[in-house]
Amino acid sequence: MTTNRRDFIKTGGLVLTGLMAGAAHATGLAPETDTTEVIQEGLFVLPPLGFAYTALEPNVDARTMEIHHTKHHQAYITKLNAALEKEPSLKAKSLEQLLSSIKTLPESVRSDIRNHGGGHWNHSFFWSVIGPSKTEPSEKLLAAIHRDFGNIESFKEQFEKKSIGVFGSGWGWLVKDAKGKLSIVSTPNQDNPLMDIAETNSKPVLGVDVWEHAYYLNYQNRRPDYLKAFWNIVNWQKVSELYES
Ligand code: MN
Repeated sequence: MTTNRRDFIKTGGLVLTGLMAGAAHATGLAPETDTTEVIQEGLFVLPPLGFAYTALEPNVDARTMEIHHTKHHQAYITKLNAALEKEPSLKAKSLEQLLSSIKTLPESVRSDIRNHGGGHWNHSFFWSVIGPSKTEPSEKLLAAIHRDFGNIESFKEQFEKKSIGVFGSGWGWLVKDAKGKLSIVSTPNQDNPLMDIAETNSKPVLGVDVWEHAYYLNYQNRRPDYLKAFWNIVNWQKVSELYES
């Protein structure tokens, strides 16, 4: 039997396929780290946040979180589902499989899957690497940060600089390559490092949304202030798991 996002386990109306090996296979992500594969009746649905909209105050305000999750993220999912309706054969693929093969997708849906599939993956990932709990990088991750950036402060500085430098809308990422080496990259719009079209194809372990919708209500044009506050909400436990898996 093949594994794909149709092979689901029904739990009280919600269909969870995050544990399927097929989804994890494409990028080497551990199956349990794939947070994008919540589907219902063959369609992607909005994954729940692991915390309340108010939980990230004052770093990110509740209204921003609610709009970001229920409006922006939902819109990517709705439009991704609409694209898949046009090419039903693609419904057998996991989101990560779709994103790692943008170049060869049918032209009729290529940009929709790139933008909206990317948007769905990026936001699902983002919610998983932030949270209200105070956490620290694991020893292994910290050692890798020291090795590749000198120290944690220097890493943060470089990550902020890269993310501030995104022209217009996009994302800042900490990624690891196949040898475990860390680097900092950015992507425009809703592209991400999993995509075959990415400049650096690698595994994200941390990401930050620098679209204005992520911070405008609280910070207006002050992206650097949002990025400073971002360190207060990073879920280092999750980032460490991603690095070590
Ligand atoms: Mn966003």
